[in-house]
Amino acid sequence: MKRSPIKYYSTNLRAREISFREALLKGLAPDGGLYVPFSIPSLSKEEIESIFFSDYQETAFIILKKILGDELEESILMNICRDAYSFRIPLERIFNRNYVLRLDQGPTASFKDFAAQVMSRLMNYYASLDKIHLTVLTATSGDTGSAIASAFQGLENIDVIILFPFGEVTEIQRKQMTTLGKNIRVIAVDGKFDDCQRLVKQAFNDASLSGQQLSSANSINIGRLLPQSVYYFYSWSRLATNPDEKIIFSVPSGNYGNLMGGIIAREMGLPVEKFIISTNSNDEVPRYLATGVYSTINPSVNCISSAMNVGHPSNFARIIALYGGIMDENGIIIKEPDLERLRRDFYGVSVSDEDTRETILESYRRYRLLLEPHGAVAWRGLEIYQDVFKTADLLAISLETAHPAKFNDELSRILGFSAEMPDSLMDVIDKTEDFIKIENNYPKLKDIILKR
Ligand SMILES: *Cc1c(COP(=O)(O)O)cnc(C)c1O
Repeated sequence: MKRSPIKYYSTNLRAREISFREALLKGLAPDGGLYVPFSIPSLSKEEIESIFFSDYQETAFIILKKILGDELEESILMNICRDAYSFRIPLERIFNRNYVLRLDQGPTASFKDFAAQVMSRLMNYYASLDKIHLTVLTATSGDTGSAIASAFQGLENIDVIILFPFGEVTEIQRKQMTTLGKNIRVIAVDGKFDDCQRLVKQAFNDASLSGQQLSSANSINIGRLLPQSVYYFYSWSRLATNPDEKIIFSVPSGNYGNLMGGIIAREMGLPVEKFIISTNSNDEVPRYLATGVYSTINPSVNCISSAMNVGHPSNFARIIALYGGIMDENGIIIKEPDLERLRRDFYGVSVSDEDTRETILESYRRYRLLLEPHGAVAWRGLEIYQDVFKTADLLAISLETAHPAKFNDELSRILGFSAEMPDSLMDVIDKTEDFIKIENNYPKLKDIILKR
């Protein structure tokens, strides 16, 4: 039976409804909102059971097939899933039924590889069908840029331009972006991450660039979120003793793209007991859950879990939308969501840098569990939840989102030793870098876009 394809609407409700394919290529909706699916299909009992016997690539196929329906041929989707996922996905048992899922074995040692690897292939495929050449423009504070650069490198129908704040990324993060060449252009901006983001926004809003087919690879793009629902199903299916067994996930959250993946998985039928929203001191969402008042944190607080230094997460508008509310791009709640249901589904925890460091030390001492700051925030969030609700015997997974070796300066200060570098990181160290430096002004960027 043919299903009509799912439509996507903008969280600002002032843009036309479009297909997944259009939403993927556009990125941001023309009214400044984010695309959200009208309905999320549930997996059948049989489909959920089949995941128990599927490897990661097959699981990705089952889930993405369900969401994309007829928008993509099965054989093409299968090839994309096979091609995208060839790395390990370790699940470490820590105590009782509490686990850490390591999403750090991809080509750039960050969980963002899971989304970038599939999104890049989908975009390239649809661009070739439409006979267009896309320019993907992205601002990064580190991990997004490298995951995007690696995933898009060598694609025929897409050029990538990445902006990063010159002084704010580590040397290894910079090399992960600047040593690829080909269709990947990297620009160091003499400014901060917020400046990079502002320049990118300016380009998207510049009518004189409308002929340039600009698109975004930040998690405002719905294509970044769908692939992130797969590892929730996959990890649960490795551990659950039956298809009804409930699970708790602790998610280290910055822009809430990772959590959105989990929410989509739950809508599709994953039996999630609770999502723990674990943040650093940028705790606007845990505060909102506690008080019902949302206020952005501006400027955001600099914490050692740097990828989560977000004072107003862009994907929160999507979560509000899925819970019946409306939030504009400035974080103003125009219509209240169902706060009771939000509180039932989520538990918010904020973890200070001091507690993050202590968690890195303690979890290594007690369990030989090696965590970097983001994974430590999530693990601490889970510990606090278990303490409050006495659920230590329930199945629970804490997500580790980056390889500890990416944070070796911090780890060696805390633990007195550093993590072994994975090959993917070793490989870039001696390669030649290629990037340009620009002042923090828009005409320079525009020039580069026009001259590509
Ligand atoms: C991006 C990132 C996060 C935050 O993920 P969101 O989807 O933005 O919530 C957490 N940890 C690491 C290591 C990241 O790179």
